[in-house]
Amino acid sequence: MKAILDHVGIAVGDLGEALDFYREALGIEVEATEEVPSQGVRAHFLRVGSASLELLEATSESGPIGRYLARRGPGLHHLTLRVDDIRAALRAVAARGAKLIDTEPREGAEGALVAFIHPSSAHGVLVELKQERARPDGRDLRADSRELAPQNANGVRAAEQAPGTVGAGADPEPATGWRR
Ligand code: ZN
Repeated sequence: MKAILDHVGIAVGDLGEALDFYREALGIEVEATEEVPSQGVRAHFLRVGSASLELLEATSESGPIGRYLARRGPGLHHLTLRVDDIRAALRAVAARGAKLIDTEPREGAEGALVAFIHPSSAHGVLVELKQERARPDGRDLRADSRELAPQNANGVRAAEQAPGTVGAGADPEPATGWRR
């Protein structure tokens, strides 16, 4: 099974400084923002090649990212690998004795299936596995969104949500993915 890097989640303390760094130093722009008030987090997606950076801003000190920042400070929070068959991937890592946060996949953004592997079983990094939803006609959603909006950095989500807006289309992933 081959896994493809989907995105890297980074907890940031000062969003403005982080955005300045990526935008002005490296020319990377935010292409979509998603807020999950129930988790006290706002996620900003920056396209980097075929993958994205996900800057995670805490909007509440008591949410998962707020607590993470208080405990560890800014830094790498998780990385997300896309797989064709998430159940097969979970079986494979479980067979190796890995500690899973989710033994069964659950629904993430855009109908994707997601599951987290505990950092203690992934060399110190929280790893999210993700399987994108297949369309009834078998076409890949991501490929489709690239055709419709080739400049669009965030695939389907960004295609449906103008850059910089929040609310509609918020990624349910953070609501469930950031407990440790
Ligand atoms: Zn993420």
